[in-house]
Amino acid sequence: MIEIKPIEELKACGDKVVIAGPCSAESEEQLLLTATQLSKIGINIFRAGIWKPRTRPHTFEGIGDIGLEWLSSIKRETGMKCAIEVANPHHVEKALKAGIDILWLGARTTASPFAMQEIANSLKGTDIPVLVKNPINPDIELWIGALERLSLVGVSKLAAIHRGFSTYGDTTYRNTPIWEIANELHNKIPQLPILCDPSHIGGSRELILPIARKAMEGVYSGLFVESHCNPDKALSDSRQQITPDRLSEILKNLNINL
Ligand code: PEP
Ligand code: MN
Repeated sequence: MIEIKPIEELKACGDKVVIAGPCSAESEEQLLLTATQLSKIGINIFRAGIWKPRTRPHTFEGIGDIGLEWLSSIKRETGMKCAIEVANPHHVEKALKAGIDILWLGARTTASPFAMQEIANSLKGTDIPVLVKNPINPDIELWIGALERLSLVGVSKLAAIHRGFSTYGDTTYRNTPIWEIANELHNKIPQLPILCDPSHIGGSRELILPIARKAMEGVYSGLFVESHCNPDKALSDSRQQITPDRLSEILKNLNINL
């Protein structure tokens, strides 16, 4: 039995939750410009990766600890809440110390029971909200297991993120959505909010709207989207990031009023 408590930060978003921000924090200017533009369109939870789990080495692996300071100034200057990915207990310790509001666990982390258990142990005694992405492989037990590990140490402000599943070869999607798995998760744990990440599912800007539309017809409480002030220049996941202006258009199209 997983005890789920409501996440105030998500409730404050209104009807639908929209968490947006760049794949990676790259520079103080990029972060602040993106956050300011997102705040203007009504987003109040900002996401940014500080430590990036990249598939191959020799790619941008995140700006590291300095990004936490940038996020603190964004919180001060815009009043937005900030969410980052944590992948080990050191990340957790630094995020908590920096006053980060929400943590998320990436797809590769959810897929690893050892990593999940270490992270859960490091969160014992805290009540920070944690968003758990689906594991890269379509295994609902692994997804639930990650949630259970957190629940067992007393973390109860939980939500899930559907970001699609890895497949081999050319497919329409970067990570194929398996809506049935998220539906099953919803049936098993109805109080658990589920967000959809159309950026990592689609892997391209054009697919964000149709994927988000499909999600909004389903069990989802909202969206977790990558948005960058200058997507073409992004250091990671450039093809799937949209400008805050484009995000605003998409939200209008979906009748999501922030
Ligand atoms: C991300 O959100 O930038 C990320 C790395 O996501 P995922 O864990 O879904 O690949
Ligand atoms: Mn990304």
